[in-house]
Order: sequence, then structure tokens, then C-alpha cells
Amino acid sequence: MLHTDRIWSVSVVESAEELARMLTEMTWSCCNAFCVKGHSEYVWLNDATSPDGAQEYAVIKLHGSNDQPLQIESITFSWCNFEEALGYITRTLQEKDDSNSFSYKVHPALQTPDQHERCSHCA
Ligand SMILES: [Zn+2]
Repeated sequence: MLHTDRIWSVSVVESAEELARMLTEMTWSCCNAFCVKGHSEYVWLNDATSPDGAQEYAVIKLHGSNDQPLQIESITFSWCNFEEALGYITRTLQEKDDSNSFSYKVHPALQTPDQHERCSHCA
């Protein structure tokens, strides 16, 4: 389930290792999203129900079937250690999640950190 009332601020992270560390070691605002440098096709959106809730992320492929954004995976990173998180992220970046049968169309509202400024989730 993807929160439809959110606008996410997408930050570019240097590497899959960096993203795995960030998602397993820190709790992020509900409007934080990330992509890995050089792989802007894939975006991880914070889909947690609250800042105190499990850190669940929706994995989005921006140009899926018919060029529409697809949610291809959902991962609760607060239940993962670093190695597990890196494994999931690497799998996505290697396009191995592209053909997941449970993927479905989504319409996430995405901004750059500059565009985002503040919303009720990060104020
Ligand atoms: Zn915000």
C-alpha cells in the first residue's frame, strides 16, 4: 500500500552500500525517498505509517510497463540487517525485481529536496 497523500523528497545516495546503511541505521521522515546515483530509474519511498512505525519502503520503477511508475517491491528495512538490506537493494538495481508478478501501477508525487522544502511530515 502506497500512501497517496504524500509528496516525497528524493535524495540521491552515492551507492547501494550507503543506502543500505542509511535505511538500516536511521529512521527517516515519512516524506523521505532515495535513489542510488547512476540508477535514477529506481526509487525507494518511505511508506511507513508513522515516524515511529516500522520503516517500510516501497520500491518504485519509474518507467515500468507503458512508461508508468510501478511499485515492484515493498521492504521493511527496520527488520533487516545491513547485509540483508544491501542484498535487496542490489537485487533491485540488477533489475531482478522488474518482473515481480505482484507489481502494480502507482502515481507517486516526487520532488527534489530543493523543491520539497517542508511538509507536515518533516516540519
Ligand atoms: Zn516533507
